[in-house]
Amino acid sequence: MKVLITGGAGFIGSHLSERYLDRGDEVYIMDDLSTGSIENIQHIKEHPKFTYYISSVINYQRTAELVDLCDVVYHLAAAVGVRLIVESPVKTIETNIRGTEIVLELAAKKRKRVLIASTSEVYGKRDHIPFREDDDLVLGPTNKGRWSYACSKAIDEFMAIAYWKEKRVPTVIARLFNTVGPRQTGRYGMVIPNFVTQALQGKEITVYGDGSQSRCFTHVADVVGALMKIIEHPEAVGEVYNIGSTQEVTIQQLAEKIKALTNSPSPIVFVPYEKAYEEGFEDMMRRVPDITKVNRLIGYAPQITLDEILLSVIDYQHSKLQERQVSPSALQF
Ligand code: UDP
Repeated sequence: MKVLITGGAGFIGSHLSERYLDRGDEVYIMDDLSTGSIENIQHIKEHPKFTYYISSVINYQRTAELVDLCDVVYHLAAAVGVRLIVESPVKTIETNIRGTEIVLELAAKKRKRVLIASTSEVYGKRDHIPFREDDDLVLGPTNKGRWSYACSKAIDEFMAIAYWKEKRVPTVIARLFNTVGPRQTGRYGMVIPNFVTQALQGKEITVYGDGSQSRCFTHVADVVGALMKIIEHPEAVGEVYNIGSTQEVTIQQLAEKIKALTNSPSPIVFVPYEKAYEEGFEDMMRRVPDITKVNRLIGYAPQITLDEILLSVIDYQHSKLQERQVSPSALQF
C-alpha cells in the first residue's frame, strides 16, 4: 500500500511512518518543518520505501501529485500546541482550514480514503466528563485565541463529514487526547516534554494555574496502532472517534511524578495562566474521553501506562541532553 502522511516529520507522523515502513508499505510524507523536524525522520530518511518532501500542503501541485499516487491519506499537518496557537492565531486558522480543504478537494477526485487528525480541544470547556463523540461542543468567545484552534479543527471535521455525505469521499476523523511520547517537543508548550526537560536540567518545574486541572495522556504507539486500524475499517467511514486514555492525572501530580522518577532536585513552582499564556486565558479543567465507540470498532484499549510513558520520555530526553552536551547546537527541545 502507498501511504501519504501530511505532517509526516512531526511527532505523531514520524511514528506512523515508521510503523508503515515496518509493515512493508511505501510511505510518502509532506512536511513544511514548521513544527516537525528532520531529526524526527533521521532514522528512516534513507529507507528505500520512504520518500519525503519538504513542502506545505498549501503547495497544491505537490499535494495533488501525492494524493493521486497514494492509496490512503493521513492529514496530520496542522498548527499544534497551545503556545503556538495563542502566539500565531492567523497561521493556526489558515493552516488548519486551508490545508484540510486542499486535501479533501484533491482526495475527492479519485475518492481516496482520508483520515483527518482532530483533537480533544474541540470539546472546548465542556464540564461533563467523559466526552462522547456526539456531545455538544462548548467553545469560548472569539477574542480568546485558544478557541480559534478548537473552532478550526471543528470546521475540518464538518468538511470531512460533508465530503463523505455529498461527494462520497471515504473520510474518518480521529479526535486525539493528549498524545505523548518520545520525539514530542516542549517548544510549543506541551506539558510532559516541558516538565521532563526542566526536571532533568534541575530547573523549576512550571505548573500553570493551581495544578488541579487534569489530563489523560496516551502513548503515541497506542494512538498510531488505532489510526492504522481505523483508516482501513469500512464501518469507520464518515465517523468520528475519540482516541485516548482514561487514566486521569492532575498536572500537579504529574509534576510530582516526574520529579520523583527523575530523582530531580527541581522545585515545583506555580505560574499564573496569564503569565504563562496571555491575559484572560481559559484552560480546560478536565478532559477525559469516552472510548466506547473506538473500542467497539477495533477493540481499542490503551496498553501503555502513565509511568511507562513517562519513563520512555525521560529516557529519550536524557539521551538528547547528553547529545547536546557533545554538540550544543544539535538540539532543540
Ligand atoms: N501546563 C503546565 N506547565 C507547562 C505546560 C503546560 O502546567 O509547562 C499545563 C497546561 O496549562 C494544561 C496542561 O498542562 O493545563 C496540558 O497542557 P498541554 O499544552 O500539554 O496540552 P493541552 O491539554 O492544554 O492541549
